[in-house]
Amino acid sequence: MDSICMYYQTCPIHSGMLEATETTYKRQYCYAGEESWESCKRFQVREIVGKCPLDILPDSPMSAEEIIEKYDL
Ligand code: SF4
Repeated sequence: MDSICMYYQTCPIHSGMLEATETTYKRQYCYAGEESWESCKRFQVREIVGKCPLDILPDSPMSAEEIIEKYDL
């Protein structure tokens, strides 16, 4: 089983836009196996609507449903 998130190549968290927290999030979510990516709010929102706003972080306190509603996705 792959240990890297399936959205890794297209996730903007790795484009340098969120440099300060990038390494921590990669270790805690993106490279940490399926159970960890599935706990990522960016992952959860993309699974439901196919995209996620740039400013949503993996550990957002909002649920995926709240994010979708707030951003009208
Ligand atoms: S931030 Fe979340 S959605 Fe993006 S690559 Fe990492 S685990 Fe996947």
